[in-house]
Amino acid sequence: LETGNTYAASTLIAISAILDKARPGENILAVSYGSGAYTIATWLRVENGIRKREGCGPKVQEYLSRRREIDFPTYVSYLADRIRREKRRLTYPRVVGEVEDTGDGSLEVLLCLGCNRVYFPIRNRCFQYDCEGPLEKITLPRRARLIRIIDLPIKQRRIFDITVMRGGYVYIVDSEPNELKPGVELEPVIRRLNYEGSDGLIIYGPCYRPMFRRS
Ligand SMILES: [Zn+2]
Repeated sequence: LETGNTYAASTLIAISAILDKARPGENILAVSYGSGAYTIATWLRVENGIRKREGCGPKVQEYLSRRREIDFPTYVSYLADRIRREKRRLTYPRVVGEVEDTGDGSLEVLLCLGCNRVYFPIRNRCFQYDCEGPLEKITLPRRARLIRIIDLPIKQRRIFDITVMRGGYVYIVDSEPNELKPGVELEPVIRRLNYEGSDGLIIYGPCYRPMFRRS
């Protein structure tokens, strides 16, 4: 697999690629090793149920063929970005869109208005022990269609603001501006939404990208 070193994800990506081709009755031995002090080996046996899952999502190879090659100067600029302080790294301008539900189900997401946090999956109370909320449950579409990109002031695009999601808008990722035409189909994907600093949390939650999964 030509993925480069994906670290903790590499074993899972390799298993996914094997499962894409596996047939019932086959055995898979997955062994992860690396710079740590130990190794884990897992034995998987492929059951009949795998046939039902066929075609449920893109194959690993399809993800790989979707990659975009970048030139060396672009790589260096990404690298410079990576070693920047985390706070600055996450303050890139965000893209916010208004979307409509295509009627393929929904996701429940919990917002804490007290501390500007997003919880997905939802939980009973805010993670912050002394936070009184209030908490607000919102639903996001499992499949969506872009109505329009919201033109926010650049200052507002550089922070994570929960009122954006509360107002029925979504954050859009993994796309070039020319892909984001009204009517384009979007799917949710989990991305980092906020970084609270060295004594806080990194907040992950659903964002949207142009549709890639088939079903
Ligand atoms: Zn809270």
